[in-house]
Amino acid sequence: MTESLLSQDIALVTGASRGIGRAIAHELARQGARVVGTATSETGAQGVSQWLAEAGFKGRGAVLNVADAASIDALLKDIEAHEGAPTILVNNAGITRDNLLLRMKAEEWDEIMNTNLGSVFRLSKGVLRGMMKARRGRIISIASVVGVMGNAGQANYAAAKAGIIGFSNSVAMKYVKKGIRCNTVVIGVMHTPLVEQRLVRQLGAKDAEALIAQRHAQVPLGRMGDAWDAAHAVLFLASDEARYITGTELIVDGGISAARP
Ligand code: NDP
Repeated sequence: MTESLLSQDIALVTGASRGIGRAIAHELARQGARVVGTATSETGAQGVSQWLAEAGFKGRGAVLNVADAASIDALLKDIEAHEGAPTILVNNAGITRDNLLLRMKAEEWDEIMNTNLGSVFRLSKGVLRGMMKARRGRIISIASVVGVMGNAGQANYAAAKAGIIGFSNSVAMKYVKKGIRCNTVVIGVMHTPLVEQRLVRQLGAKDAEALIAQRHAQVPLGRMGDAWDAAHAVLFLASDEARYITGTELIVDGGISAARP
């Protein structure tokens, strides 16, 4: 790819303080986009501003709670005033609240639906007008193979991630004539803080380490993915090199779903 693929773009990346979101923000900024990367705390937002500045990239961190409509409205107004309307939205922020269905509390269901799926609706709706006006927009949302294959103890998370795919493809069809492309990156098991914390919480540090080693070995490509694997897929979909791609899923899982019996 040539340098500065995205020099005309303003990109909003949710959950850019760490993990996959940070790598996505880095890759979009490296290609010239002005990036607003979010975190849930002021300290996290300052961290994003700091690493963007240290890398010599354009952009800043900002505080956002994707589960809170007022927080989304306030951030979008702030971006409009300072950077202009986003031409790229990456719906990356997400959480897990795993439990077996019999034990799952309604709050665990609602929190996942609101944070992982409701946020995609609110943010996508929030950036649409600006993208339509610019006749340039790319909405990329991060889903999971769990949303397609299922996973014991993750019915809430799987349902929200599957919902993202249907939502994204519906928006793609409606706004295809307005210069907006809308796609989903469906990722497999990546080795990030979210995954590690979940396993350590569930199994304890020693067993978690053993399971992580086992998971690496189970992936057809020989290893769990990392944040950069996901970020490169997002960068491709955000670039004009993907100009003929909308309303679809790019699966980045090292072959897990293809190898399913
Ligand atoms: P991490 O836990 O490492 O990072 C999550 C990010 O989301 C952080 O920046 C966090 O901010 C932010 N965040 C959490 N809650 C909120 C909220 N309410 N409002 C705004 N931001 C929030 O996650 P990963 O990098 O592992 O995952 C990123 C995405 O990829 C998620 O959507 C996840 O579901 C998906 N995914 C991950 C997989 C994996 O294996 N890791 C597999 C498949 C999908 P803060 O630092 O301030 O808490």
